[in-house]
Amino acid sequence: MKLYMSDPISRLPLVGPVYQKRLKRLGIRTVEDILLHLPHRYEDYRHEKSASYLKEGESVTIRGKVETFRNQYTKSNKKIQLLVVKNKKSRFKIVWFNQPFLSRTFKKDEEFYFSGKTGWFGREIVLMSPDYEKIEKGKPPIHTLRLVPIYPETRGISSKWLRRRIFDLYSNEVEFTEYLEGEDLSRMKLIARESAFKKIHYPKEFDDVYEGRKRLAFDEILTLVFENRQREGEWIRKKPNFSLSIKDDEMKKFFDSIPFKLTASQIKSINEILKDMRSELPMNRLLQGDVGSGKTIVAAASCFASFSCGYQSVVMAPTLALAQQHYETLGNLFKPFGAKVSIFTSFSGKKKDIDADIIVGTHALLYKSISQLNVALVVIDEQHRFGVKQRAEISEITKHEDCVPHVLTMTATPIPRSIALTFYGDLDVSFMKDMPMGRKKIKTWIVPEEKRTAAYEWISNEIKRNKVQAFVVCPLIEESEITSMSEVKSAKNEYEKIKKIFPDLRIGLLHGRLKSGEREDVIDKLRRGEIDILVSTPVVEVGIDIPNATIIVVETADRFGLAQLHQLRGRVGRSVKQSYCLLFSESKGERARKRLEILRENHSGFELSEMDLRMRGPGEIFGIKQHGIPELKIASWSDIDIIKQAKKFVQEIYSDKNKYKRVFEYYDNKKIAFN
Ligand code: ADP
Ligand code: MG
Repeated sequence: MKLYMSDPISRLPLVGPVYQKRLKRLGIRTVEDILLHLPHRYEDYRHEKSASYLKEGESVTIRGKVETFRNQYTKSNKKIQLLVVKNKKSRFKIVWFNQPFLSRTFKKDEEFYFSGKTGWFGREIVLMSPDYEKIEKGKPPIHTLRLVPIYPETRGISSKWLRRRIFDLYSNEVEFTEYLEGEDLSRMKLIARESAFKKIHYPKEFDDVYEGRKRLAFDEILTLVFENRQREGEWIRKKPNFSLSIKDDEMKKFFDSIPFKLTASQIKSINEILKDMRSELPMNRLLQGDVGSGKTIVAAASCFASFSCGYQSVVMAPTLALAQQHYETLGNLFKPFGAKVSIFTSFSGKKKDIDADIIVGTHALLYKSISQLNVALVVIDEQHRFGVKQRAEISEITKHEDCVPHVLTMTATPIPRSIALTFYGDLDVSFMKDMPMGRKKIKTWIVPEEKRTAAYEWISNEIKRNKVQAFVVCPLIEESEITSMSEVKSAKNEYEKIKKIFPDLRIGLLHGRLKSGEREDVIDKLRRGEIDILVSTPVVEVGIDIPNATIIVVETADRFGLAQLHQLRGRVGRSVKQSYCLLFSESKGERARKRLEILRENHSGFELSEMDLRMRGPGEIFGIKQHGIPELKIASWSDIDIIKQAKKFVQEIYSDKNKYKRVFEYYDNKKIAFN
């Protein structure tokens, strides 16, 4: 029988409706799926030993002829099974627990392999509950005498059952759908798919497993990169809405009006952006800069460039509070130039708001048709909050147009390199390496519970003495963009608590369920210095810029990812004043403590996000998995070499589509087979 990768698993013998259902729980529907159901470990039963000289705790395979079998009761009234087997001249015992049916398996004089661990039984060393397999001429052992793969199981499907099915599968002629040519394989030091599967399910050495996995990991990553490149391709084929003839002397007027001296990174990034906006291709640039590095002014310069050519810009922020802040910042910056800035949120939604030169809003804006406007530039702030999907969405919105706006995405929590490489195809990246002059490292303290009161006292004094402000970030309840009621409740509780602790200070509260007017009010008050301590839910905090705030307290710090904590910490340290970050944690765990210590010692968002990735996985960093970073099955997000290789290969196949027809066909077929 010929088997294709896309064939349903029911084509294998003994896989009826009941098993199909169970296999589905393991995500196995097709022949390819079962082959991709990789062992999570192996038992090394390669070494056949004779029954003499067994040591305790060895993993061994012993061959032996059945002599006697008997069920026996222990003192504690448990049933055990005792098998005596003859191996050459010596005998040895095998013990099982609660498997009386084994009496039907072991017939006198039949020869078996037994693979398992040795252990003490009374005063003897015996084999404990080993795997066994009858020796039959011409049939290689499957469950014994080799590197035996142990597969992830589910109820009703054992590792042994899976091993048998995969073995049976190999008695057919399998079409492994190789899409790489021999020369590509040898150039990339990869093995063929066929041998990759073989080496994983039937390894001779542990190195085989490594090689096999490497190839399959490449396949997995390549699929992601390839699909992304296809989306990207649609984007690149379009023309920019407007290719702008930005005048240097106009820009100079704007630069002269900025109240501070731009950092070298800011100047470099602005130049890169202006160059993109002048070009015939739509800009697709990521501006990556640590919290407080001053990305807003770079965005502002870009908006100004668009404005100076007579076009609109859209600035999107993940939260209302941040939209509000951008609205004010940009409003102030552009006032001298007569540029009209408006704020457009799901609350306002007034038509007249979209007549302005610069339209600031939350992502609700994203779903209004950008293409209706005269928009040359879209700025997306705090991109990681939006996730990978957002750009695809802009692409979607403008699907039926031939043109797309220039897009600048900004992120403070830097996207780890491996993820950026995979998902941001030909995205250009500007890095902001330096901070504005005179910034000090934020002193980070992990505060044990017994010092809480002392910490509050210190905060109170600090606020009074230096006329600074503080944030208190409420406990994290769930990682969700949507403010849940329980989160609001916890914010209110925290607010009441803080009011009692600091009776002589002015306390404010900010959470996602405040009405829009109330929210702006709170932030205005904070900015004017009329609030000493702002209690806020974790989601509202992003991007808020209050240079006079120098203290941030984070409750349940252990529940946050490192990158998020760094982002929170970045709410302070935005002036030349010394700032402080106090971390409270409920967890006494070693791991939690380690993570907080890493944050204390490390002040680079980039390094922290890489560490977070290694420690918690991508789903955790970005908060919500739906945001588009898939869980990898075979590869890992730290396989940077494989990711680079896949990326390079995708570039190659796109530059010579004819030569790599096979790859394109492979993915076309895959789409048909799996959709
Ligand atoms: P982020 O990169 O986190 O978005 P912001 O753009 O909010 O940072 O800038 C943080 C603070 O630093 C703001 O108060 C801003 O006015 C100030 N700032 C930005 N660039 C400079 C600079 N070159 N010199 C001094 N202050 C700056
Ligand atoms: Mg910002």
